Amino acid sequence: MYGMNDTYYMPHSNSIDSRLRQNFLRQLQKLWPAIKGSLSEVRKPCIRPNCAACARGDKHPSCILSFTDQGRRRCMYVPAELVPQLQQALHNGRALDALLYQLGPELLRQYRQQRDAPNSD
Ligand SMILES: [Zn+2]
Repeated sequence: MYGMNDTYYMPHSNSIDSRLRQNFLRQLQKLWPAIKGSLSEVRKPCIRPNCAACARGDKHPSCILSFTDQGRRRCMYVPAELVPQLQQALHNGRALDALLYQLGPELLRQYRQQRDAPNSD
């Protein structure tokens, strides 16, 4: 549907804006779930008396998610079965960041193309 010539007969700002928007929404859809923060493993002693692992000094590994909440650094424990999902979500978060950085120059380029198009308005 979109050819090289579509700028000649389609209303400019709307067609370009909706193309960028559709592209953005399509990417966004693929990036769910997306989060920011970092996962790390910590080892903590438990509260059970006579725990062999704690007695050995091994303690118990668990995963925490660190993030920033209104400028404050916070963290939450992550159940083991959720770790792979959160890793994917962190990966998606970085991809979303990259996407947002690309969008500024893309909007500006589209604007210029539109403005300088021979048949604009
Ligand atoms: Zn223990």
